[in-house]
Amino acid sequence: MIDIRNATKIFKTKNNDIQAVDDVTLHIRQGEIFGVIGYSGAGKSTLIRMLNGLEQPSSGEVVIGADVISTMNRTKLRKKRQKVSMIFQHFNLLWSRTVAENISFPLEIAGVPKKDQKRRVAELIELVGLTGREDNYPSQLSGGQKQRVGIARALSNEPEVLLCDEATSALDPETTDEVLDLLVRIRDEMDLTIVLITHEMHVIRKICDRAAVMEGGRVVETGPVLKLFQNP
Ligand code: ADP
Ligand code: ADP
Repeated sequence: MIDIRNATKIFKTKNNDIQAVDDVTLHIRQGEIFGVIGYSGAGKSTLIRMLNGLEQPSSGEVVIGADVISTMNRTKLRKKRQKVSMIFQHFNLLWSRTVAENISFPLEIAGVPKKDQKRRVAELIELVGLTGREDNYPSQLSGGQKQRVGIARALSNEPEVLLCDEATSALDPETTDEVLDLLVRIRDEMDLTIVLITHEMHVIRKICDRAAVMEGGRVVETGPVLKLFQNP
């Protein structure tokens, strides 16, 4: 479903070239929860950003479903991004908009009729457990609730892939577990493929089917989580 083939990303800066991702090849299956773990600077963000075209590889190829992301033009990419959505460590909500308005935002951009927007937002609010919070502003919500809004917004256009960029790193352990449980439920109900990056082993162990370990831009290990991280 997702094929990353010999992807390399080099950032050219004034003083030197930084090889953020170095010849990474990964195959991620439909319906899988796939984790990428590594220390800060390992290249995780750059890798995940290549999956929705926020970064283009310097060489190599990124394929999602039938689409070669790494060679798509802007117009096509904008369309594809509705199907490859993302949630973030710091939620990236619009602070002047209510919960319902945040969730409907991608639908507005996609030109979905108002009536359909309303119906979809109501479904999503229920799915993520935010009933009664529709008219709150993000500042009135806890961290876990903010991430639920982020998840609902990411799901609004019925994506094929959900990318999670350190999505629980700003949350306490209990809230982290609640959000992770929600991600598993969504994967099960919607047959979504989830790719997450994290520096937390707990996240990988709790919900990932398979994982890759990144170091210095390279994938140094990959396999089923049970095998990769089994206790000796
Ligand atoms: P991680 O997400 O694992 O912390 P990143 O992908 O953010 O790793 O970064 C990998 C390396 O690439 C780091 O050395 C980082 O400083 C560098 N890097 C990331 N983005 C850029 C950029 N836009 N310009 C220059 N260097 C970058
Ligand atoms: P995150 O918390 O997601 O890892 P960062 O603070 O590492 O975010 O990076 C924020 C943004 O800055 C990203 O778009 C990343 O590509 C860019 N960036 C990271 N490192 C560098 C760098 N050394 N030079 C320029 N841009 C960078």
